[in-house]
Amino acid sequence: MNEPLVGRMREFGTTVFAEMTALAVRTGSINLGQGFPDTDGPSPMLERAVEAIRGGLNQYPPGPGLPELRQAVAEHRKEHYGLVYDPDGEILVTLGATEALAASVLALCESGDEVIVFEPYYDSYAAAISLAGAVRRPVTLRPVEGRFTFDPDELRAAVGPRTRAVLVNSPHNPTGTVFTRDELSAIAAVCAEHDLVAISDEVYEHLTFDGVEHIPLATLPGMRERTVMISSAGKTFSVTGWKTGWICAPAELVRAVQTVKQFLTFTANGPWQLAVAYGLREELGWVAGLRDSLATKRDRLMAGLSAAGFAVYRPAGTYFVQTDIRPLGFTDGLDLARRLPELAGVVAIPTQVFYDRPELGRHFVRFAFCKKDEIIDEAVARLSRLQGKPADSDL
Ligand code: PMP
Ligand code: GLN
Repeated sequence: MNEPLVGRMREFGTTVFAEMTALAVRTGSINLGQGFPDTDGPSPMLERAVEAIRGGLNQYPPGPGLPELRQAVAEHRKEHYGLVYDPDGEILVTLGATEALAASVLALCESGDEVIVFEPYYDSYAAAISLAGAVRRPVTLRPVEGRFTFDPDELRAAVGPRTRAVLVNSPHNPTGTVFTRDELSAIAAVCAEHDLVAISDEVYEHLTFDGVEHIPLATLPGMRERTVMISSAGKTFSVTGWKTGWICAPAELVRAVQTVKQFLTFTANGPWQLAVAYGLREELGWVAGLRDSLATKRDRLMAGLSAAGFAVYRPAGTYFVQTDIRPLGFTDGLDLARRLPELAGVVAIPTQVFYDRPELGRHFVRFAFCKKDEIIDEAVARLSRLQGKPADSDL
């Protein structure tokens, strides 16, 4: 048989997260690659899901999501951000942020439309854009004084006659940047000037550190009406396997996204929706504790990676520390990530796979710190053996 996979998906292969987690399992390495916590979410919330299953909530929930969750999301948006969304028509529950992203791009972009993405970008963005037959236009985040940011001129230059949407992610995976009001204003100005839709992935909204506040793009003047705001319970409540997400947007945009979503999965899992509604109402204190604990873990991993010889960027949010491997004598992060189990018994993510132009990120490697302290300590002890190891395998 000829290659059965459609041409537009051939560049994707297996996701780097699956590849690196499989590598960790196969080699018995510590997995600081794929971003998932190794401790559970709040137990009363877990209990709610169990109770919902035992209580018989086991058939199709309504297409837009359970009213309890849509109501809890509306209250949460209003209390936290002063954003008012009608739970009946302006909120749609999805199978995680991944489905929300794919359904949004498929619903809003015609084949041949262009979507601006900030590279390095989360891998599902590129795949969703390709599925839609759309074209990505990267704007590069580069380190400036220890923090990844973009040049507003580069953003403006990326807009063309076919540009339909800007895909924004703050707090940003994989760089840990939390966009400032100025950065968001630059994005908002471009959206307003060219009548673009903003698809705003905010799954790390609660995981910011050092007093840095997450600012939802929709709170900027003129942006609520053109923004699809995407969130997920996975990161907020340490339940990445629950795949429960949602979008908030004006009714017209929600209708468009729901038209696609109903034929991808129709609806999302009922028991988890009920439990997440409980979490949003009752467990935000737990989330504040998670944020504090993650900030400490970030410091722990950063200190260890610096001592091991990496150049380290300080993230203001997310689960991830971005490093430059060149001080250790390595130049290619993909090569290093594939050899890291054998060199040090650790797995990490090569950042270059999140670029249209991999050469711009060749020397970056991402490490996750959403792990138990003893795991972080053991990982950095192992990584300290890298100093003095032979550098890139092709040198
Ligand atoms: N966006 C970003 C930036 C992510 O890091 C992830 C991974 N958790 C997702 C979306 C996907 O979220 P979910 O698991 O809810 O589909
Ligand atoms: N969001 C997670 C990360 O960036 C991975 C999710 C996945 O495996 N697709 O590590």
